[in-house]
Amino acid sequence: MALEEHSLSIVIVGHVDHGKSTLIGRLLYDTGSLPEEKINEIRIASQTAGREMEFSFLMDHLEEERQRGITIDISQTFFNSDKRKYVIIDAPGHKEFLKNMITGSSQAEAALLLLDAAEGIRDQTRRHSYILGMLGLRQVAVIINKMDMVDYSKERFTALSDEITKILNQFNIQPSVIIPISARYGENVARPSESLKWYAGPTVLQALDNFSALEVSNKSLRFPVQDEYTIDGRNIVVGRVEAGYIRKGDNVEILPEGDRLSVLSIEKFLENDIKMAEAGECVGLCFDKPATRGQIVVSNGNQIPRITEKIHANIFWMSDSSYKKGEPVTFKCATQEVNGRINNIYKLFDPATIEIVDNDAEEIGAAEIAEVEIILEKSVVVDSFNEIPEMGRFVLEKMGHPVGGGIIL
Ligand code: GDP
Repeated sequence: MALEEHSLSIVIVGHVDHGKSTLIGRLLYDTGSLPEEKINEIRIASQTAGREMEFSFLMDHLEEERQRGITIDISQTFFNSDKRKYVIIDAPGHKEFLKNMITGSSQAEAALLLLDAAEGIRDQTRRHSYILGMLGLRQVAVIINKMDMVDYSKERFTALSDEITKILNQFNIQPSVIIPISARYGENVARPSESLKWYAGPTVLQALDNFSALEVSNKSLRFPVQDEYTIDGRNIVVGRVEAGYIRKGDNVEILPEGDRLSVLSIEKFLENDIKMAEAGECVGLCFDKPATRGQIVVSNGNQIPRITEKIHANIFWMSDSSYKKGEPVTFKCATQEVNGRINNIYKLFDPATIEIVDNDAEEIGAAEIAEVEIILEKSVVVDSFNEIPEMGRFVLEKMGHPVGGGIIL
């Protein structure tokens, strides 16, 4: 079987000590993604500490290398299944993780939420569930780890499954599967477990393979216009196809105005007679009417974009100086840029605890998260982050500097 081209980005979250590093180490080891020398290093380190293989050492080791600048790739860990490549996105504290997710420097397509079978649900389990919900992540598998510490008890597993499902449901997440494992002994990680015979579901690796990649090419067209040029008397607009595809001869719509245009030609550097461009491609398009930066070219598909002056969003405040309700900000989404202000701060969260610190607040401070309403001077075209990420996230600027990032609800 040929590997899929796309590598799926996953994030592994859970309360401290519930086994994230061990699970990552296991996934790397059991999928043969570790060089022999690394395995030997962990073996020696484990023996020195008087243990069998201690997989969490691997992550400590990688972390140490990262800090000393040895590993080139600083934030990502890779492994393969028979089906595809996986990238594990680092979830370094909530603050950084949230910021990276919101500003789009990392985009998790699926999540594993880890739970210690002996300890059960803890504060961070709840917070992480909340964060996954807030980010609109819908592909979530729950992993109940350290089953070896509870005698592989089916009763314990069922009780915890019920409890975590209730919590996740509150945040609109339906876990795709709940898997009992022992990361330490590699049970149900990449191979089924003898001790967990009562469980008939997928292993962690199979559950990952069952997730689907975030496919933007089979969605409706979104082409934010970046620039327009006149070349040899012809109007050419350039941009990146963010979702769907566009073909020569297509009848498309340009938003927010709603005019109809037809595609006379598609232009790419050093290529002739192009019939089609799809998500991810940067192209020039020649239309029968002019189009300008900030407009969004769309097709009538199943995803209908929202055209609105009111944005309801979760934002992450990145600036050191705080924001007072009503101050002017510039809203930037794809190539759209519109002035506006935050009109309502419905909820303000402490970024470390994800606890609500204020309802109907007046101010947002450094690194705080808030659920807000933004009022714009002019309509913009947006989608839900979950459907088309590039059209569902935005940056807020003050005097040309980014001060916040957000996800449209
Ligand atoms: P993290 O903080 O979530 O990354 O947790 P670690 O992976 O560092 O694990 C914390 C401790 O739990 C370590 O001592 C691990 O050896 C131990 N641990 C992890 N998984 C298992 C497991 O499946 N069974 C048992 N008995 N211990 C485990």
